[in-house]
Amino acid sequence: MEEKEMNLEETEVNELDELKKSLLAEKKDIFAEMTTEKIDAAYEYAKGYMQFLDNGKTERECVYEAEKMLKAEGFKPYTFGMKVAAGEKYYYNNRAKSFVAFVVGTESLENGVYFTASHIDSPRIDLKQHPLYETEGIGYLKTHYYGGIKKYQWTAIPLALHGAVTKRNGETVDVIIGEDPTDPVFYISDLLPHLASKQMSKTLSEGIGGEQLNLISGARPYSDKAEKDAVKLNVMKLLNDKYGIVEADFLCAELSAVPAFTARDVGLDRSLIASYGHDDRVCSYPSLTALVDVKAPKHTIMAVLADKEEIGSEGNTGMQSQVYFDIIAELAKSFGVSDAVVRANSKCLSSDVNAAFDPNFPEPMEKMNSCYVNGGVVITKYTGARGKSGSNDASAEFCGYVRDVLDEAGVIWQTGELGKVDAGGGGTVAKYIASKNIDVIDLGVPVLSMHSPYELVSKVDVYMTHLAIKAFFEA
Ligand SMILES: [Zn+2]
Repeated sequence: MEEKEMNLEETEVNELDELKKSLLAEKKDIFAEMTTEKIDAAYEYAKGYMQFLDNGKTERECVYEAEKMLKAEGFKPYTFGMKVAAGEKYYYNNRAKSFVAFVVGTESLENGVYFTASHIDSPRIDLKQHPLYETEGIGYLKTHYYGGIKKYQWTAIPLALHGAVTKRNGETVDVIIGEDPTDPVFYISDLLPHLASKQMSKTLSEGIGGEQLNLISGARPYSDKAEKDAVKLNVMKLLNDKYGIVEADFLCAELSAVPAFTARDVGLDRSLIASYGHDDRVCSYPSLTALVDVKAPKHTIMAVLADKEEIGSEGNTGMQSQVYFDIIAELAKSFGVSDAVVRANSKCLSSDVNAAFDPNFPEPMEKMNSCYVNGGVVITKYTGARGKSGSNDASAEFCGYVRDVLDEAGVIWQTGELGKVDAGGGGTVAKYIASKNIDVIDLGVPVLSMHSPYELVSKVDVYMTHLAIKAFFEA
C-alpha cells in the first residue's frame, strides 16, 4: 500500500518535470553545457583576440590587422567591376577605415548574401584641429571626445596617441606613441581630493568638462632661454623629428588618445578579459575568424567592419555609406542577377555588444530581460529608447530562423535588452541594413563597463559568438 502510493507520487513528479521541460524556457549553465575541451578552446581563442585588441586600437589599425589576417588566408583585394566566381575570397579596404571581406558561395547569389556587420571604431579622445598650446610651462593638446564617454574616467590614466597625419606633400604618416613600454604616454590631470569639495558636489557628468580633457604632452622648454611657447615649440620639434610633421598638419590629421593599456586576463580563473575597445572589436574579430573557418560556403558570406558607429554611422566609412550595398550590387552584376533580388534574400547579423547585467549596478537593468556574463552570445531583438524609438526590431520569423540555426549548431545563446524601459537606451547599425530590404538582427557579446577605457567580457561568451557567426555562415 505504502509502496504503491510512492510510485504514484513519483509518476506525478516525473510528469510535472516533463511538462515543465516541454513548456517552460530554461536558462542554460554555460560551464555545464561546455566540455572541458571546449572551454580550453575558448581560452585559446581568447589569445588571438587579445592580440587583435592590442594591435587594433583605432579603426585604421583594425583594418590593417584584418587585411593582414585575411591575406594570410588567401583573400585577394577586390575592386569594383571585377568578375568573381564561386569559391573565390576577397577583401575590400575602404579608405583604410572600414573593411569588407567575402567568400563567393557555390549556390546562386540570388539566394542572398549572408553577412555580419560590426564596427571597429571605439569611444576615444580625438585631437582638435588646433590642438597645440602651452600654459604655465606645461604643453597641452586640446581634444574633442568621440562617442559616448563618462569624461571623468579618462583622467589620470596613461593614454597613447594613435592616428594618421597627411603632410603638405600628400604623404600620410601613421602615428603611434605610448604603446611600446619604453614610450612616453600622455595624461589628463584631475583635481586632488583635498581641494575638490566644489568639484565633488557636482554631478558625474559635470565633474570634468569637455574642454578640460586637455592632454599633457610635455613640460620642458626647447632651450633654457625662457622664451614664450618654448615648451610648445619643443613638443612640435619632437613630433617633427619623429614624423616630419609641422603644426599646420594637425588640420589634416586624425589623432586620437586611447588608453595605453593592453588586454589582460581578469580573475584568478582567467575567465574574463579586460581591454580598451571590446565594443565592438569583440564582434569584429569573431566575424573574421568565422569567415576564415568556413570553407567552401553554400551562400556567399561576408563580414563588414564599419567605422563611425559610435557617432551615428555617418560618413563614407560608416554603415550608412552606400559602399557596402554597392559591393553587393557589383557582385549581383558580376553574376548577371538583380541586386534587389539579392538584397531581398540576404540575411544579416548586426554584430554588436549589449550591456551585461551588473550585480554592482542592478538598478537600471531589468533582470528577466538582461543579458549576463557567461550567458553565451546575446541576441538583441530590439534596441532603441523611449518606446523602442530608432530600433530595427527584428521580425518573429527572422528571430525564429536565427534561433534554429544556433540551436542546431549547439550554440549557447541568451536574449538581452539594454536596461529598463525608461532607463535610457541605445542603437546599432541594424536599422541602416534593414532599410535596404535585408533581414537583420543584433547578435553579440555581453559587456561590463561598456564605453569605459577598460571594458570587460567573458572568454566563453566571445567564443560562443565565433561559433554563432560560423553557424550562421554555414546555414
Ligand atoms: Zn558602443
